[in-house]
Amino acid sequence: HSKSMKALPRRRFIRQTLSAALAAPFISTAVTRALAQAAEKKIGFALCGLGSLSTHQIAPALQHTKNCRLTGIITGTPAKAEKWKAQYNIPGRNIYSYETMAKMADNPDIDAVYVVTPNALHAEHTILAAKAGKHVFCEKPMEASSEKCQEMIDVCKAAIRLLAIGYRCRFEPHNLECMRLAREKVFGDLRIIQACFDIHLDLPPGAWRFNKALSGGGALMDVGIYALQATRFITGEEPIAVFGMETKTDPVKFKEVDETVVWQAKFPSGVIADCSTSYNSSLVGGYRAVADKGWFQLDPGFYYDGNRGRRSDGEEIRYPEVDSLGEFYQFAAEMDDFAQCILGGKATRVPGEEGLRDLKILTAIYKSIRTGETVKLG
Ligand code: NAD
Repeated sequence: HSKSMKALPRRRFIRQTLSAALAAPFISTAVTRALAQAAEKKIGFALCGLGSLSTHQIAPALQHTKNCRLTGIITGTPAKAEKWKAQYNIPGRNIYSYETMAKMADNPDIDAVYVVTPNALHAEHTILAAKAGKHVFCEKPMEASSEKCQEMIDVCKAAIRLLAIGYRCRFEPHNLECMRLAREKVFGDLRIIQACFDIHLDLPPGAWRFNKALSGGGALMDVGIYALQATRFITGEEPIAVFGMETKTDPVKFKEVDETVVWQAKFPSGVIADCSTSYNSSLVGGYRAVADKGWFQLDPGFYYDGNRGRRSDGEEIRYPEVDSLGEFYQFAAEMDDFAQCILGGKATRVPGEEGLRDLKILTAIYKSIRTGETVKLG
């Protein structure tokens, strides 16, 4: 019952609910509940870029959120517009192209834009959205350079719009538990963090991920960023120095971007991190934190679902309840949090500044790879 009500377009739903309420001699519990639901505030999202992540994770996850709804799309492909319009009941007036998205300014159905285009287009699309008066949720990595990240922050600030980055692990219970174990020093002081995210990238050579102008970098920018994030959110510190090395098994395919990178980082408290990432293996997507009285680890810890962990005292780190939403859990959680920040005027835990910090560190790792030197960070 509640599922079929949810599927109704909101206006029709409210109209029907109200007429049912007026017709009834007394307000039934079901109607009261329905009215309360109708009054629940939701942020209207437009997805910008209808590629793999939007199609398979974000749009389905939006259907499981409490405070969000998919109200618009921005796409360069008319065939996709037709398909999405039918599948998600999106009114024609809420469909834009990259060229027309500035016109969203006069569309009250759209409160926020979720930018899911190739990395080096994030600034362009974020800035267009913010200038149209929309809040922006932007996928990781925030952009291809720190300068672009700073520009995004400045424009959103000037437009008084919230800007947040899609760091989904920051909303994931297994990762949140590891942050707690570190903060509360359950196993004492941290010493070493080993973090890795590698995937087999099975894409044709023409894909944007191999094109530096569109991606900004390879495995390190795309998935290594999860390992970098983990070293930062587990220590709660910023690295003061990094050293990186790379190797390639396919210098033709990976002519412009990195294929496999390892890096080390040192933190102010003395913790050192040992990390790696690759587009050419898929062994690990997680981390192990070694402290002076024990350790804890997630393996995997960066996947859409099925994350799990262990501790040196034999206890498991396991939150089976997140399995109910499977691969949609983290995306629904990050979008609901963003909506609640907008509705409540609260700060986000994943602001643009967080994306900028990562870009500065990634840039330092690339510099170290090029120069063969350890690069110090301010
Ligand atoms: P994708 O290639 O499947 O989709 C990219 C979309 O951008 C496509 O619809 C494409 O048509 C559109 N696009 C617009 N202009 C383009 C241009 N000039 N060249 C190429 N494509 C163009 O990519 P994806 O896997 O959906 O990744 C999109 C973004 O999401 C990236 O920033 C990526 O890092 C991020 N991402 C995040 C996660 C996560 O877990 N948070 C997972 C995958 C991807």
